[in-house]
Amino acid sequence: MDRRHDRIFNFSPGPAMLAAEVLQTARDEALDWHGSGMSVMEISHRGPEFTEILRQTEADLRALMAIPHNYKVLFLQGGATTQFTAVPLNLLRARKSADYVETGEWSKKAIAEAQRYCQVNIAASSRDANFSYAPAQEKWRLDPQAAYVHYTPNETIGGVEFNWTPDTNDVALVADMSSSILSRPIDVSRFAVIYAGAQKNIGPSGLTIVIVREDLIGHAAPQTPVMLDWRIQAENDSMYNTPPTYPIYMAGLTFQWLKKQGGVAAIEKINIAKARLLYDQIDASDFYRCPVAKSDRSRMNVAFTLQDSSLDGEFLRQAEERGLLQLKGHRAVGGMRASLYNAMPVAGVQALVDFMRDFERRQG
Ligand SMILES: *Cc1c(COP(=O)(O)O)cnc(C)c1O
Repeated sequence: MDRRHDRIFNFSPGPAMLAAEVLQTARDEALDWHGSGMSVMEISHRGPEFTEILRQTEADLRALMAIPHNYKVLFLQGGATTQFTAVPLNLLRARKSADYVETGEWSKKAIAEAQRYCQVNIAASSRDANFSYAPAQEKWRLDPQAAYVHYTPNETIGGVEFNWTPDTNDVALVADMSSSILSRPIDVSRFAVIYAGAQKNIGPSGLTIVIVREDLIGHAAPQTPVMLDWRIQAENDSMYNTPPTYPIYMAGLTFQWLKKQGGVAAIEKINIAKARLLYDQIDASDFYRCPVAKSDRSRMNVAFTLQDSSLDGEFLRQAEERGLLQLKGHRAVGGMRASLYNAMPVAGVQALVDFMRDFERRQG
């Protein structure tokens, strides 16, 4: 196929595909943003043009997620991984321990980092079944003295997603929403802190969004590096130093695109339909298999295996021939993974399902 003009379907877990309209707008504005005669990449982060971009981007995110007024929105660098450190440094205060829910590769990384700063209590874990499910609330053993409870609503690598928001009584709930933010409506007021790297559902890499309740700001440990202190970032409107201006601009374009799609409730309906299409195909026979418990299957990252793993290479080669790219599963779990973030159109999932049916008929 001639790929010079056609965009392929990119199932990458991140950095992930962006909406074509977003890229087209960025292209059209690349040399001259709104008559300024400059690219967004070239303008001062303290000038009126970028100030307006940041203001609008934050306003759009607040509208899309219905973020209450008593939450700050921070536009930071360092990825979600840097927040693995920032969370204990900002939230521990005088407390000695934090509760963590262990559901896969990303929560394991968050736990390992928190252990450098405090005692980590594993409040619940799905280790007993190779991280293939989301532990039910009744199984969580929360410590009322914990500084906070941390969990990963969507495990990007294993393809396990919580379809419910945990209840932690009065203990602050912290969520690494890197791969599920904006994919479904959530009640932000149930969370103390939400953080997400941008490169899954928001924009290019280089931007990390932190949504934090105001009363939790201002209590960082004394040795906290200045860049990780949410108070300093909040007081400086995310401009203590130079923020990631171009990724913020791209995030803003994505938020405008999402508003045009009808917002988060509308995109959720499409996300449900896309996930159902693919899981139905996987479940249609024994040729493909999804290792994740049915109720906890991720809408964003669909992990599946071929019954005969010796066909993996052939599956990937033929998929690529059809313009279906980046389907190889993470090295930690193997098999395949199709990431279906907001920007993936239904047509992309349909093309994948058609190919899978075809491949099975020819090989099965
Ligand atoms: C991708 C991802 C991360 C890592 O994000 P970085 O921005 O690369 O640090 C952390 N948690 C989850 C759930 C992810 O999907």
